[in-house]
Amino acid sequence: MERILLMRAFLIALGAVVALSASPLAQAPAGKTLDVYFVDVEGGHATLYVSPSGESMLVDAGYAGFDGRDAGRIAAVAALAGVRQIDYLVVTHFHGDHIGGVPELAARLPIRNFVDHGDSSESDERRRAVFNTYVQERSKGTHIVAKAGDQIPIAGLDVRVLSSGAGLISVPLEGGGIPNPLCASFTPVEDETSEDAYSVGTLVTYGEFRLVNLGDLSWNQEYGLVCPTNRVGTVDVLLASQHGDDEASSPTFVHALRPRVAITNNGVKEGAIQPTIQTVRASPGIEDLWQLHFSMLGDQQNGPEEFIANLGDVDTGHWLKVSAQADGSFTVTNGRTGDTRSYQGGR
Ligand SMILES: [Zn+2]
Ligand SMILES: [Zn+2]
Repeated sequence: MERILLMRAFLIALGAVVALSASPLAQAPAGKTLDVYFVDVEGGHATLYVSPSGESMLVDAGYAGFDGRDAGRIAAVAALAGVRQIDYLVVTHFHGDHIGGVPELAARLPIRNFVDHGDSSESDERRRAVFNTYVQERSKGTHIVAKAGDQIPIAGLDVRVLSSGAGLISVPLEGGGIPNPLCASFTPVEDETSEDAYSVGTLVTYGEFRLVNLGDLSWNQEYGLVCPTNRVGTVDVLLASQHGDDEASSPTFVHALRPRVAITNNGVKEGAIQPTIQTVRASPGIEDLWQLHFSMLGDQQNGPEEFIANLGDVDTGHWLKVSAQADGSFTVTNGRTGDTRSYQGGR
């Protein structure tokens, strides 16, 4: 009797292990999508992921102030997506354009789990004050310190931490471990000492679909993810690091990931600058580059208006949305025009 019970317990445990290790593709309900909204926070960062299971993950929450502008925009997008609470808030790093909006957002939407790299690496008084305000809010929920290689348990998705607290994944992911001939031509820059280098970067996988978002991770750290071998593999969508500034997005990194679509969460005069745009446009397999804003840092780098969510320098707050199927196909919608462009599966 005892032996039968033990055997039954073993089989139940085995079943649980099998269920936990089932691929996201196997779990994916037919026709359901992963929806990712790139919220316009005027050159800051806020990306809302809505899993096919309905669970939500917000990466960063834009700026404080401006009459609650950024928190209001995130809350409006959440309402549009049917999201009533933020299940996981991933804070990439503790700069004001990424965490400033957290308290104002928490006043509008419950935030359950706060995922970040721990403590601010910066002692500057003003930045410390921004961090301390965030910590007050963090203390009201569950705090999770992310380490490279961790998974964030969003039902229906595989969310992998690639970088955190200046640490990087050391073991290739499934689909990674690819030789990267571009490592030889990489030119390192002086090591970034700000919070940017500590960014919590994630790879979100839904079936065959893969999206990388590294926050403000910098040039040398990105290199560390793809050299001496590319441990990440290729992706469908890449959110250009550091808003599309040229302190990230080396050809060695971008061209190794071979994104089909790249997005810049730039502002009118923040990010999306010419060297990055050139690197993205020269990337093998790139189909389109989408921008949250028309860049006024020089207009030669801007793409056609249909690929830009916000034109001019008026705060219009239009988003971009990626909607992905488990077979790897996806669409990108421009919130300004409502127009949608389709991309077939298969990298
Ligand atoms: Zn930053
Ligand atoms: Zn930033």
